[in-house]
Amino acid sequence: MISIRVDQNRCVACGQCVEACPFGQIQLEMDVATIGDRCTLCGSCISACPLEAIELEGAQPVANTMTDHRGILVWAELSGGQVKPVTFELLGEARRLAHQLGVPVAVALLGASTSSAASDCIKYGADLVYLVDDARLALYNDEIYAAVMEQIIRMYRPEILLMGATTYGRSLAPRLASRLNTGLTADCTQLAIDTEKRLLLQTRPAFGGNLMATITCPQRRPQMATVRPGVMKALPPDADRQGQVIVPPVEIPQTSKTRVLEVIQLQGDQVDLTAAEIVVAAGKGIGSAANMKLIAELAQLLGGVVGATRPVVDAGWISYSHQIGQTGKTVSPKLYIACGISGAVQHTAGMSGAETIVAINKDPDAPIHRIAHYSLIGDVIDIVQALIAELKKR
Ligand SMILES: Cc1cc2nc3c(=O)[nH]c(=O)nc-3n(C[C@H](O)[C@H](O)[C@H](O)COP(=O)(O)OP(=O)(O)OC[C@H]3O[C@@H](n4cnc5c(N)ncnc54)[C@H](O)[C@@H]3O)c2cc1C
Repeated sequence: MISIRVDQNRCVACGQCVEACPFGQIQLEMDVATIGDRCTLCGSCISACPLEAIELEGAQPVANTMTDHRGILVWAELSGGQVKPVTFELLGEARRLAHQLGVPVAVALLGASTSSAASDCIKYGADLVYLVDDARLALYNDEIYAAVMEQIIRMYRPEILLMGATTYGRSLAPRLASRLNTGLTADCTQLAIDTEKRLLLQTRPAFGGNLMATITCPQRRPQMATVRPGVMKALPPDADRQGQVIVPPVEIPQTSKTRVLEVIQLQGDQVDLTAAEIVVAAGKGIGSAANMKLIAELAQLLGGVVGATRPVVDAGWISYSHQIGQTGKTVSPKLYIACGISGAVQHTAGMSGAETIVAINKDPDAPIHRIAHYSLIGDVIDIVQALIAELKKR
């Protein structure tokens, strides 16, 4: 078991660890730092101590496992045999990071009848495809996929593993992190490289979206991050790109505790917000559920889809599948029209990547105007009705 210890001979009670502890778990008692019961072993105090008086006991020595990890691996997620766009987005990002590290980009592609998926991954930036094509992998299964992915990672030892923060990615990533005894940063909005230390700088919203935290995983490999669909940009596909397809010698488990019988697509009110080029989003400022019709009409006239803020979803004016923001979807359309939306950070976290943002709000000081390219100050219903009338004329 891992525990944390203060070396009483070295500690001079300088107090730097007290300031560094984000959980207020360190106190100075009798001229020495003492660590409280609710310490999470986050390690902030270890980095802060100038005298190296704080250490983790029971942690595995890692130096020998760090240097032989190389390259970036992306998990290729499939839906109906097709590679999901988030994989191409991650490949685009992986190429940028790989350029700084001077390493190749590989994809782990698990599924059945995946040959066109392999060539698609190469077109979008993969140098290597680790292909496990087997009927038993036709439908996603947590246990089986985790077992196969673990073997691939132990075999090829990537220093970075990127996965989509999708329903499956969010399920697979923590299983893998636990099996590999490494760290995982979920829902990253930005990735960068500290080239000197070869560290992945993983930035994501923290404390309810009120600040952005940059997280590193200095002592374990691979460094694992998930990124939501729509956050990163895919490179344009290049049909002339060359890559290598490798079939790794993995064992596919014969049994698992769960069996996936069938995958049934949800019917009805489902929208693909993440792929939409135009989003017309409703905020609480539209006033009532009845006014959602106007938002839908504007979206339809523009060939777009309807998005919403959390209060609109909570009020039952539209279903959760339309929610944009920290606890909803991330969108990056060409045009985003924010109708009666204040611009809280939890909402803008999901839409600030839009190319053009138009804000309609009666309050000229609403925060949404700070990120808007065009601000229309006035009553949202009047303005939406005027836009609808104008579009209908055309
Ligand atoms: C942990 C956590 C996660 C969250 N996740 C999300 C999330 O994923 N997505 C999300 O959206 N929110 C999320 N929230 C909620 C978020 O903090 C805000 O409360 C929410 O985004 C505000 O929604 P709104 O802009 O629709 O409403 P309000 O903040 O009430 O803003 C309404 C706006 O409409 C304007 N207005 C009012 N009447 C009119 C009118 N007649 N004409 C023109 N303008 C008008 C007002 O000036 C105001 O700016 C989360 C909060 C927390 C704590």
